[in-house]
Amino acid sequence: MNTPTELYIDGKWTPAKSGGTFEVEDPATGQVLVSVADGGVADAEDAIRAAASAQPEWGRTAPRARSEILRRAYEMILERTEELASLMTAEMGKPLVEARGEVAYGAEFFRWFAEEAVRIGGDHTTTGDGSNRIVVTKEPVGPCVLVTPWNFPLAMGTRKIGPAVAAGCTMVFKPAEQTPLTALALGQILDEAGLPPGVLNIVTTTDPGAVVGHWLAGGIARKLSFTGSTEVGKLLLAQAATNVMRTSMELGGNAPFIVCADADVDRAVAGAMVAKLRNMGEACTAANRFYVHHTIAAEFARKLADAMAAATLGPLIDDAGRSKVQRLVTDAVSRGAQAITGGVTPAGPGYFYPPTVLVEVDRGSELLRTEIFGPVAAILTFDDDDAALAAANDTEWGLVGYLFTQDIDRAMRFSELLEVGMVGLNTGLVSNPAAPFGGVKQSGLGREGGRVGIDEFLEYKYLAIPRQI
Ligand code: NAD
Repeated sequence: MNTPTELYIDGKWTPAKSGGTFEVEDPATGQVLVSVADGGVADAEDAIRAAASAQPEWGRTAPRARSEILRRAYEMILERTEELASLMTAEMGKPLVEARGEVAYGAEFFRWFAEEAVRIGGDHTTTGDGSNRIVVTKEPVGPCVLVTPWNFPLAMGTRKIGPAVAAGCTMVFKPAEQTPLTALALGQILDEAGLPPGVLNIVTTTDPGAVVGHWLAGGIARKLSFTGSTEVGKLLLAQAATNVMRTSMELGGNAPFIVCADADVDRAVAGAMVAKLRNMGEACTAANRFYVHHTIAAEFARKLADAMAAATLGPLIDDAGRSKVQRLVTDAVSRGAQAITGGVTPAGPGYFYPPTVLVEVDRGSELLRTEIFGPVAAILTFDDDDAALAAANDTEWGLVGYLFTQDIDRAMRFSELLEVGMVGLNTGLVSNPAAPFGGVKQSGLGREGGRVGIDEFLEYKYLAIPRQI
């Protein structure tokens, strides 16, 4: 696969107007892989203009035509699994086996939304007094701004592009500066799959504030779909408010992982391996705080440390990401935590950090209030369910919570009382294209995937018709 390195605007590959480029680095070696176009405001303007002029015709395209483009792109992604997986490993650092997993997961959003495109539907009812018919239709919201993070370079793109294409929206897409190549490869696939010019436009840039700010201020885009940190999400929400845009915000997390006294400890350890080590812990869904019943805490910690120490991990994304993880571990240790495995930044090239398990973690430690985004498990103990629930909910975030118990009543009570958008019950993985993914509190607004995912890209229109019978 010959990965493009230029901007994709109105169906054409084009250099940045300034002629500028920026380097993409391999986090395993610190070496430069390639340079890509560094788009600016002038390119952003071309992109949104292309999206605006493509919108009317694209919005009228037959649902089956949109569906079949997505279906073809799904097949093409799977055919190119090895190339896409290698690209992600090169620019993001995840091990090849995880990158292949992301290709399958990311492609599935296109298959899912190919199936949703032809089932958008509507509603037909009558007013309560019988005087009017109510006909409800759904229309594409209009040109969308898509902004994605670096941690799942393919899946975060397909999770937004899939429903936008299915709904009949055009797009301007700004991927993370650390991982532009996978996004450009995705643009190439959609182009080959028959997506018309202007429907998807991709601007890579080192100045996201200027490019995205231009789109949000311009008044043409009608919707913002953002995945990234809560901090940047709040900034963009404020900007989107200027033009009263629709927004979907998938923001940060601080997931609790609760292991009750009656849990199957081996199953909990297996779940923790996924919830903690998937993507080296660089996931919004990563278990950030472990609360384990005091009667099984020592056994759980020992087994988890053994399993984590034997795991194969890739590097963290960059020097800043790794320094943050080390700073959080150092803070916890200075407050009395013990690292029973890991805890020290290794020498050598690349941004590797060892799997780390901390016990005796003080409740004032900063890593309980910050997304660690690294392979560090901080274990605390609890004595009764209410204490575990109070600790789990003591955060401004609410994306996901993990619960390990074999007691159905306890499982239902915790699921209802955890302040989160998703609960993993005896599992460490909740992400699936068929499920409504999203959070409450400061973890975001809206849902991606599932039956409701396409609604984020549709407006309801209601037609009132008097009944004269
Ligand atoms: P980030 O917020 O730094 O960046 C996300 C995107 O926003 C990138 O494309 C970046 O270029 C862009 N951006 C940064 N500053 C901007 C600005 N001023 N204006 C416009 N755009 C700007 O996040 P990140 O470091 O790339 O990703 C990690 C974060 O993403 C974590 O907080 C993680 O929890 C979150 N995340 C959430 C989900 C979810 O579904 N809830 C999924 C994956 C990642």
